[in-house]
Amino acid sequence: MTGETQFIDRVREALAGIEAAGLTKPERVLLSAQGPEITVARKDGSTADAINFCANNYLGLASDPRVVAAAAEAMRSWGSGAAAARFICGTQGVHKELEAALASYLGFDDAILFAACFDANGAVFEPLFEEQDAIVSDTLNHASIIDGIRLSKAKRYRFATSDMADLERQLKAARADGARTIVIATDGVFSMDGHIANLPTITALAARYGALVMVDDCHATGHLGPEGRGTPALHGVDGRIDILTGTFGKTLGGGLGGFICAAREVIALLRQRARPYLFSNSLSPATCGAALEAIRIARSGEGDALRQQLAANRKQFREGMAAAGFDLALGETPIIPVLLGDDRAAQEMAALLLEAGIYVTGFSYPVVPKGKARIRVQLCAKHSPDQITRAIETFVTVRDTMAANGSR
Ligand SMILES: *Cc1c(COP(=O)(O)O)cnc(C)c1O
Repeated sequence: MTGETQFIDRVREALAGIEAAGLTKPERVLLSAQGPEITVARKDGSTADAINFCANNYLGLASDPRVVAAAAEAMRSWGSGAAAARFICGTQGVHKELEAALASYLGFDDAILFAACFDANGAVFEPLFEEQDAIVSDTLNHASIIDGIRLSKAKRYRFATSDMADLERQLKAARADGARTIVIATDGVFSMDGHIANLPTITALAARYGALVMVDDCHATGHLGPEGRGTPALHGVDGRIDILTGTFGKTLGGGLGGFICAAREVIALLRQRARPYLFSNSLSPATCGAALEAIRIARSGEGDALRQQLAANRKQFREGMAAAGFDLALGETPIIPVLLGDDRAAQEMAALLLEAGIYVTGFSYPVVPKGKARIRVQLCAKHSPDQITRAIETFVTVRDTMAANGSR
């Protein structure tokens, strides 16, 4: 009894600490499907319409009627789910179809499905890299890569984000330490800054030091590069990536699910050894159906048109904001951070923008470095030019209001 009281007290204290540091992440409730226009619930119980600039729904497929219909059809055909792990009786035709579609789309021998890319990244290192091996990881890599690396017994090396001289130093150190296999692990797109990994240099260094390359392309698959085949294709180094992980939770339909693409033998070993694959249910048929339709659209001529529109939207927003005097992080992705510096200014601006119908997210320390607070804007192919103009005008109005109130 007292043990339990102590425990709840400790949990309360942790929560109070998060609140006092201003780090509580509220969860705003959407009362509509995901899309460029959404309805959000206000604290007072009223609702408000907003233009959404913070989803990873880059091509707008999350509520595309064809994607939704494909999910419904897959569920009608295959049921709600298999109620079994893949190797028991949980492998259905639709799983094999999706794995084949991914391998063909992204140019690998084979693919393996996971409940999420978080699981794929948690699964990929431990079975493939042992004590004699080395994992060389970018410091800004996604939390799931960091956790996945922790689960492996391989020796760990870290290089300062996108610092190719540091990467080479770490590769030399791993070789000097006698590593058997070396793998470089990197995000394809770093989601806080929107910058793209320097894959031409990374693959060249990998070749020089006999290392493998693992890319997590969650923020790229579907909308970057030719056919939306991601950062390797964008940089013309597809075919030189050994392991690629990705998600169905962003461009490819917005549902939940992840995957790993690699050589046939690598995927075969993962099917035998990857713990989140062996000890978890198989992917829901609805998710598989949605992902198959999203891949079909992304690969089609319509996908090209959507990517062109996304690029045009990015250009319109960047040019408009720069002309209005905002400081934007550089980059070639639909993630555009508006740099503000001050933590409170970023949070306050995001709140005022939402009041004015523009939904964006403010990020401050410790999610980004101290003094680098920002508002992250994410564009969607389905934003109209008018909506983007409205966003820019609202940024200006809110900045002026804050300046008049002396908050900046
Ligand atoms: C979103 C994201 C993930 C997690 O993907 P889920 O499928 O949602 O678990 C992993 N890595 C990166 C780089 C991401 O952006």
